[in-house]
Amino acid sequence: MSAKAEEDLMAWLRNAHAMEEQAVTMLEALARRTGDYPEVKARIERHLGETQRQAEALEECVKRRGGDTSTLKDMAGKIIAFGQGMSGMFVDDEIVKGAMASYTFEHMEIAAYRVLIAAAESVGDAQTKSVCERILKEELSMASDLEASLPDLTRKYLSRQGS
Ligand code: MG
Ligand code: FE
Repeated sequence: MSAKAEEDLMAWLRNAHAMEEQAVTMLEALARRTGDYPEVKARIERHLGETQRQAEALEECVKRRGGDTSTLKDMAGKIIAFGQGMSGMFVDDEIVKGAMASYTFEHMEIAAYRVLIAAAESVGDAQTKSVCERILKEELSMASDLEASLPDLTRKYLSRQGS
């Protein structure tokens, strides 16, 4: 495979790392606002832990492939600022919007890891491929749990508004 493929893989790993840093910020914001929904809060907190480990695993992939990890921090810093801005969208019907945003975000992550898995395979990087496959499973599971909780969350939110 070409040097361009290796470059692309590196760029996508960096983007995924930044995406996970952003996910940490968003999940922290969401966890703070889900106190009235303990099951959802617990699931978000579990995924928060997974997400922190995902960011670390991606940093290891970048390092192992010979990439510079100092710029990783700068980029993550910028995206965290963006994530904090986005957490403002949880303000009024916060919990419902937050759950929708989170569900959407998981699907962006799923797409990113499907791309990374194919790219890692193309350049013959079995370790990166296996890391991304493990992360993909966590994203699919979170997406599926969020999907399952959306109707109940909505009903609880609406009944709280009425009381
Ligand atoms: Mg993730
Ligand atoms: Fe995720």
